[in-house]
Amino acid sequence: MNMKLRTKPRPLQKLDAAIPRLSPHFQQLPAMKEDAAIQQKGFSGELKVDYYLDYLATNYTILQDVYLRVNGKNVQIDSLVLSQQAIYIVDSKNFNDTITFDTTLKQMTRSDGKVDKGFEYPITQVQNQQFHLQSWLSQHNLPSIPIYYFVAISEPSTIIKVHGDTEAIGKIVAHAARIPSMIMEKEQQITEQSVNKIQDGKIGKIILNACNVFDMDINKKFSIKKMDLLPGVICTECGLLGMERVYGGWRCRRCNMFSKNAHLNAISDYLLLVKPYITNRECMRFLKLSSRNAATRILSKSGLIYVEKGRYWVKQ
Ligand SMILES: [Zn+2]
Repeated sequence: MNMKLRTKPRPLQKLDAAIPRLSPHFQQLPAMKEDAAIQQKGFSGELKVDYYLDYLATNYTILQDVYLRVNGKNVQIDSLVLSQQAIYIVDSKNFNDTITFDTTLKQMTRSDGKVDKGFEYPITQVQNQQFHLQSWLSQHNLPSIPIYYFVAISEPSTIIKVHGDTEAIGKIVAHAARIPSMIMEKEQQITEQSVNKIQDGKIGKIILNACNVFDMDINKKFSIKKMDLLPGVICTECGLLGMERVYGGWRCRRCNMFSKNAHLNAISDYLLLVKPYITNRECMRFLKLSSRNAATRILSKSGLIYVEKGRYWVKQ
């Protein structure tokens, strides 16, 4: 079963919420857009790998986007596949063009035919994940479980080349579509050796309960002040910031789109980018409402909970 499903990473959610609310002249905007594009590419690649790993969901326990604290460090693992005999780490890599693994120098380069660029060696990355996961399991008094790893190349068009030991790389690195059968082959190989069966569902649950959410303070990273974030409701059709409040909803003066609930996105942007709670006054300012009653009406229908003591609204 799929025990933990991937959602859009919180730093990317924040970038996507902040970018349309900044002035086009905001100095860090190009850097933010570039960062968002890189993160989106990684996220899309992970989703493609999820699609194939899903074939294993009937017989295995799958956890997507595992984020654990081990030995004072945070460890992020794209996917964990648990069987009754072993744990499989699957790391997704999304690259265009040609990638080359050099097994002697332990480096990976990507080439578009003109320029070569170097990247952290994916094999070293998954080996570190294996090491950290192993220590995490032993620190939590869980049985010693064999951990294997794979690197899934999410784009079928990516050409994989090897300098050195092709066979060794071929056992670990493959296009995403091949990973499920590689896991099943490994399972068959180890079936004869394994004595004790593991309760994969139980261990999956223990890992799930220990998972944190990866987050980042993008306001700090890109020097965004609260006043830089422009208030208003964004049109879901054309992206214009500043839909007008009309009877029963919002109307865009550029594309004439009417929306009953466009303000929900604005409230969610506020909770993501400014503070995890919102007061009536802040709601009035951020949605550009002219009446306090309208803010109260909107907040009480937004699915948030009113905290009497602090006189603000929070997510359930
Ligand atoms: Zn519009």
